Amino acid sequence: MTPAYDAAVRREELSARLQQVEERIGSACRAAGRPRGDVTLIVVTKHFPVQDVEALCELGVSNIGENRDQEASAKIAALPPEVRRRLQVHFIGRLQSNKAASLASYVDTVHSIDREKLVRALDRAAAAGGREIGALVQVSLDADTAAGGRGGIPLEGVAALADSVAASDHLTLRGLMAVAPLGVDPAEAFARLATAAGGVRAGHPGAGWISAGMSADLESAVANGATHLRVGSAILGSRPPFG
Ligand SMILES: *Cc1c(COP(=O)(O)O)cnc(C)c1O
Repeated sequence: MTPAYDAAVRREELSARLQQVEERIGSACRAAGRPRGDVTLIVVTKHFPVQDVEALCELGVSNIGENRDQEASAKIAALPPEVRRRLQVHFIGRLQSNKAASLASYVDTVHSIDREKLVRALDRAAAAGGREIGALVQVSLDADTAAGGRGGIPLEGVAALADSVAASDHLTLRGLMAVAPLGVDPAEAFARLATAAGGVRAGHPGAGWISAGMSADLESAVANGATHLRVGSAILGSRPPFG
């Protein structure tokens, strides 16, 4: 039997974990000599119910991340309008171009642009919906990209793809995103990302976002210039406790 969703208990739990993550971000910023305001926390709510999104919003969260279109579109549609208005919705997952139209109807920013075909599909979908969508190029930091890794375009392809996003009428280039590869020092990977981001920013001064860092490696990401952290399990828990 699935236990009922106890809103009061869950709110306490989310509040406590959010505070712990806030403290980690605060310490990481102090250690790096960066103001806390440099870093935006995106709470990754994938696999968790819409009630959690509402609770997080009440606790002051204004940015959420999702990684599957089907789940995200249903969840966003179920939000009360006043909650939706207070949230920025970030899409951080692998993306197929046939999902572009659906995505363009609810997402504010897509972090996972890793090929030209997606740029065109998303730009067309945004145009059709009369929307402007923020876009980040996802970079692969895996040594062996051919092995599949964790998504993204190899570093040598980043500049051209970023130019293509920037040239799109209905997409706004925000910067770069990456996931640290498994089995390597995240600091080394995030340092490479920061270098690539500097290159992109030189050509596109408005594209200063570096989306990096998750529950396990957010300190390293902050030390290496991340402006946006995508934190899931440290706040929501490791698996869905409710249906
Ligand atoms: C799930 C996910 C996260 C959050 O990961 P946690 O380890 O749960 O914090 C961040 N980024 C991406 C791309 C994800 O898919």
